[in-house]
Amino acid sequence: MRNRLRGFLGVDVEDWFNMTILESFGHLLEPSEAVVRNSERLLELFEGEGVKATWFFLGEVADRFPALVRRVVEAGHEPAVHGYHHHLVASLSPAAFRASLVKAKQAVEQAGGAMVLGYRATDFGINRRTWYALDIVSEVGFRYDSSIFPFGGPRYGMSSAPCVPHWITTNSGPLYEIPVTVVRLLGLRLPAGGGGYMRHFPWVYTRLALSRAQSCGQPIVFYAHPYEIEYPAPLPSLPSFLTARQVHALRREHSRQTRNRQHTVGKLKRLFKLCGFDTMGSLYAAEQTRTGPTAWSQTSRSCASETR
Ligand SMILES: [Zn+2]
Repeated sequence: MRNRLRGFLGVDVEDWFNMTILESFGHLLEPSEAVVRNSERLLELFEGEGVKATWFFLGEVADRFPALVRRVVEAGHEPAVHGYHHHLVASLSPAAFRASLVKAKQAVEQAGGAMVLGYRATDFGINRRTWYALDIVSEVGFRYDSSIFPFGGPRYGMSSAPCVPHWITTNSGPLYEIPVTVVRLLGLRLPAGGGGYMRHFPWVYTRLALSRAQSCGQPIVFYAHPYEIEYPAPLPSLPSFLTARQVHALRREHSRQTRNRQHTVGKLKRLFKLCGFDTMGSLYAAEQTRTGPTAWSQTSRSCASETR
């Protein structure tokens, strides 16, 4: 059955090495040509499958490859922001976080010639400790956020957050939160809305988890990265300033990041047959025109009610 489910897709536009090279080692590296190459392959795949998506660009990618942002916009997708560099929210002072958002928003809007409404933090980095950041996200001019993964993961997540889109009151005004999909199984919240989870888990898990989430009244909110479709992906030459220990760590990270990539495109095609995808901005726009209570909190049954 085609497009049985209804979903919203976000692509985080970055290189595979961002997390290790910046967050662990503190080095900045220029975005690579691989970002463009893999994003163009994704664009072709989306076009063939009738998929529209929101592309959360790093500002540094938009500044280095503005034509890519334009191409994404011209293809009918939505541009959005993923920070300027791939810094974790918690690693920046509030002032530095604000400056990075302003710079990134300007870079993406200038490159794409379109207004940006959406933001997603690196590493789904909004949680209780970084909650203040949402005041800044709203103040800078974003209207919706998709930075909360509502489960208790080892690296990220916020298990007390609602599983459905909802309004958050910030000191700078209301912000619409669109959390990534989790499913409630066996009394646990399990991640289901993402590239890495789809890549590593059997397809039957993704299919059943997404179907169950939607039957609970949740929209499917899914994330992906352009680099996840590159296979084979030999280790590129590494910068000479890295120490031997850092090279070793980066090799290990590359091995982890490339695991099961040979299945990504096939699984994405299955996903697009299971679920129709639109931009996250379209979900925000639908909420804007609604006059009554929010759609999802009214219809959601098991998942939302446990969080109230
Ligand atoms: Zn990222």
